[in-house]
Amino acid sequence: MCCTRLSPCSYNGQEFDAYAKVVVNAAGPFCDSVRKMANKDALPMICPSSGVHIVLPDYYSPDGMGLIVPKTKDGRVVFMLPWLGRTIAGTTDSSTSITPLPEPNENEIQFILDAICDYLNIKVRRTDVLSAWSGIRPLAVDPNAKNTESISRDHVVSEEYPGLVTITGGKWTTYRSMAEDAVNAAIKSGKLSPSNECITSNLRLIGGDGWEPSLFTVLAQQYVRMKKSDGGKVVPGVMDTAAAKHLSRAYGTLAERVATIAQNENLGKRLAHGYPYLEAEVAYCARNEYCESAVDFIARRSRLAFLDTDAASHALPRIIEILATEHNWDKSRQKEEIQKAKEFLETFKSSKNAHFHDGKHQ
Ligand SMILES: Cc1cc2nc3c(=O)[nH]c(=O)nc-3n(C[C@H](O)[C@H](O)[C@H](O)COP(=O)(O)OP(=O)(O)OC[C@H]3O[C@@H](n4cnc5c(N)ncnc54)[C@H](O)[C@@H]3O)c2cc1C
Repeated sequence: MCCTRLSPCSYNGQEFDAYAKVVVNAAGPFCDSVRKMANKDALPMICPSSGVHIVLPDYYSPDGMGLIVPKTKDGRVVFMLPWLGRTIAGTTDSSTSITPLPEPNENEIQFILDAICDYLNIKVRRTDVLSAWSGIRPLAVDPNAKNTESISRDHVVSEEYPGLVTITGGKWTTYRSMAEDAVNAAIKSGKLSPSNECITSNLRLIGGDGWEPSLFTVLAQQYVRMKKSDGGKVVPGVMDTAAAKHLSRAYGTLAERVATIAQNENLGKRLAHGYPYLEAEVAYCARNEYCESAVDFIARRSRLAFLDTDAASHALPRIIEILATEHNWDKSRQKEEIQKAKEFLETFKSSKNAHFHDGKHQ
């Protein structure tokens, strides 16, 4: 049997060897660095493009309304939409270099603000920006294409080196088709014998089976956390509607498990003022979603860093405290987590941590 050795792999600081018939390289913008491990002279497949988004308060998208401008004065697309209780606006599309911590620049943020202002009667202020970040789109060039000039917004699957299948490009919205094509290519490459055809297109997301829109009501009704009233008497507390709606939307039917942790382990407090994220989510994600770092929680398990940089920064000590209990982190690991999370949040240019001039902020 011919196997590829993946060495050294690391999980939770521990290194180990792993062997596989086929390796799927789905490293997004970083897929070229993985291809270069197979061939240091591999030509790039990725044409990185930077996209900046900003988040504004909810009053810019009242009653769930948004706007999309298909063609601005200079031919770009700009949108402003309700997102997780706030307003997201974007975007830009400019060539960039690949870096693990991309940052938006002031011109890009100002372009989005100006473009929106052109279509509203009110000024959208730089001081309203709760969070601003840059992401790298992995636009792909097919290494086998005759015309290498053709940059695609579709995905590309290729196996240039035996046993290494690369999938890149594509869209978030086409992830099922990307997964199907990548797995089919891996089956072919490794001459694997799957027991069934691909089931991706009908597979529900975890927590989707049996989910009903009314689940949040049941959550709020069933949640009983004893708390002290003003008079010092112990009385049952209720889960507020915003938190119940958030848990139902984020975890589906598994929300009940998060609520149980909140109730039974005294982890029912909110992590940040004005946001529905609960302390119990940190414990749940550490136990069930491989949440191994504070950055993972503020960026991917929750979206707090993207919604409100300042709120994420304030929530960090408590998030790290809970993760430390879950993972037995010592003081030095906790310090390292704070440091890494602060460096990560520095790349977000909210109105608080950006250097811009509006006459008030210096
Ligand atoms: C600004 C912006 C706007 C976008 N807008 C849209 C949109 O409106 N609609 C839409 O459908 N799509 C949109 N996309 C595209 C979409 O987000 C990406 O196409 C999609 O995330 C690509 O998925 P992926 O799994 O290939 O890569 P990624 O989501 O980037 O995942 C790659 C993973 O690989 C990991 N990784 C990297 N290197 C290594 C390594 N050496 N070893 C192990 N793991 C590694 C990374 O940590 C990451 O988790 C947008 C993207 C950006 C950046």
